Amino acid sequence: MMFEFTFLGTGAMKPTLKRFTSSLLIRYRGEVIMMDAGEGIQMRAYQSGFSPMKIDRIFITHFHGDHFYGLPGMIFTMAKSGRDRPLTIYGPRRAGEFVEQLLSVGYGRVPFKLNIEELSPGSTVEGDGYEVRAFRTDHGPPSLGYVFKEADSYNVDRAKMEEHGLKPHPKFRLLKEGKEIELKGMVLRPEEWLVPVPGDSLVYTGDTRPSPRVVEAAEGATALVHESTYLHGDVQDDRGHSTAQEAAMLARDAGVKALFLTHISPRYRDASPLLEQARAIFANTYLPSDLTKVIVKKGEMEVSD
Ligand SMILES: [Zn+2]
Ligand SMILES: [Zn+2]
Repeated sequence: MMFEFTFLGTGAMKPTLKRFTSSLLIRYRGEVIMMDAGEGIQMRAYQSGFSPMKIDRIFITHFHGDHFYGLPGMIFTMAKSGRDRPLTIYGPRRAGEFVEQLLSVGYGRVPFKLNIEELSPGSTVEGDGYEVRAFRTDHGPPSLGYVFKEADSYNVDRAKMEEHGLKPHPKFRLLKEGKEIELKGMVLRPEEWLVPVPGDSLVYTGDTRPSPRVVEAAEGATALVHESTYLHGDVQDDRGHSTAQEAAMLARDAGVKALFLTHISPRYRDASPLLEQARAIFANTYLPSDLTKVIVKKGEMEVSD
């Protein structure tokens, strides 16, 4: 089991050449899911070697321009490229109204089925081998974070294999599919021989001030992609956003494996002080650039720029 995610936009509020505004692509078993769609993000998708035509689901965290102004351009491209399969856009309250308004400007027409689904905190979208669960964040306008989680899988119990002198066998595949098998004169039943392997998960916060809801949603997650707009000390009273230090404290409290800082304010030409600040609290922190790719496989991560 594995999935990968690519940062398309890691900047906050306004795009710069270095950092476009928020967007992330998740690829899982041939399916492509987008989280947020900042302005011009289809260009970053092409740069990442990926056609936006492949996207079937887009989850928007909230309706500030830096998280969804990329939608009309991308949908227009899909229309012009002859797309006919449906596209579903998910978002918090008023998603239907805002997306429809965006698409009603000009003479463009969407020739494929476009579904818009409004989600509430706790809503779950079931996919093939995964689910995406929405949770409430603390930002200002209605806002949601999303937990992408692979389904749990099963392995044959190693200790039990050794105990019975068994070696890996092609028939184990059937056992993992839930079937009884016969091996060396024994009948092996799935309920007795399989141990669960928890699926990996990715938590994407969108914009939020530090929130206990994020800790709850991210408890034990593999990867936490947390907004980190500012360096702690650069801002006084808050504002609906988090600092690098706050993101790191949340990652530590939630016990995640890795933290990825995103939604970096354009005021930081060199954002490395944010990384240093976060690493002082939570060592396994990364500062992705646009197009940084992460492969997640059985709890392990491989990060490449
Ligand atoms: Zn934002
Ligand atoms: Zn915002």
